[in-house]
Amino acid sequence: MTEPLTHAPDAPVVVAVDGPAGSGKSSVSKAVARRRGYGYLDTGAAYRALAWHALDRGADTSDSSAVVEVLGDFDYAVSLDPDAFWVRVGATDVTAAIREPRVTDAVSGVARIPFVRQAATTLFRRLVAESGRRGVVVEGRDITTVVAPDAPVRILLTAAEEVRAARRSAETSEQDAATVAASLQRRDAADATVSEFMTAADGVEVVDSTDLDFDGTVAAVLAVITNAPEVRLGR
Ligand code: C5P
Repeated sequence: MTEPLTHAPDAPVVVAVDGPAGSGKSSVSKAVARRRGYGYLDTGAAYRALAWHALDRGADTSDSSAVVEVLGDFDYAVSLDPDAFWVRVGATDVTAAIREPRVTDAVSGVARIPFVRQAATTLFRRLVAESGRRGVVVEGRDITTVVAPDAPVRILLTAAEEVRAARRSAETSEQDAATVAASLQRRDAADATVSEFMTAADGVEVVDSTDLDFDGTVAAVLAVITNAPEVRLGR
C-alpha cells in the first residue's frame, strides 16, 4: 500500500470531507477549496465514471468480474480545479452524464467491489500528491477513514435525511421528490455496508448542516480548517 501522503514534508494539506448523499459535500467542498486556494477532488466522480464506463460497455454492473474487466481499459481523468471542474473517460467529457439517474442507480454496485476500491484509493492519493497544490479538499465516503486517515483536517458533513432529500430533489427536474428520496435512501443503505460515513470516526469533526444555509455551512467548514493546529502553523 502507498504511504499516506501527508508524511512527505512538502505534501499538500489534505482536508478530508465525508458524508452521505445530499449533505452538500460537493458544493461546500468546492467553495471551501476556492476560498483557501486549494484544489478540489471529488472522489465520487471516479466511481460514477467507472459505472458510466461499465454501462457504456454494456457490462452488468452487479457482476463484480464484469466490472473488474472493464476497469482494465478505464482511462480516467479529472480536474482538481474548483473553478473548472470536468471529468473525462478517454476522449469523452462525462461531467454531466455521470449525474444521470441510470449512473446514480448503478454506482453503489460498482463501488462495493474491493478491487475497485483499492485501485480508487491508490488513484486518489496519487492525484493529491501530484496536484502541485498547497492543499486539496478531498470529498467522499471513506476519505477520513481509508483514503487519508492521517489528514490534518477531517470532517463529517451531515444533515437530516429529509433535508438531504429536499436538496437533491431541488437539483433534479428528471424525477419527482418521492423517487429522489427513495433513490437516496437506497444508495445510502447500500453505501453504508461498505464505508462508515453516518457516524464520525475518532478525531473527525462533525458539521451538521441541517439548520445551516450554504454560506453558513461553508463558514463552519472553514472554521474547522483554520482551527486545525497543522494549518495554523502556516501551511
Ligand atoms: O458523492 P457521490 O454521490 O457522487 O458518490 C457516488 C457514489 O460513489 C456513492 O454513492 C458511493 O457508492 C461511491 N463513493 C464511495 N466512496 C467515496 C466516494 C463515493 O464509495 N469515497
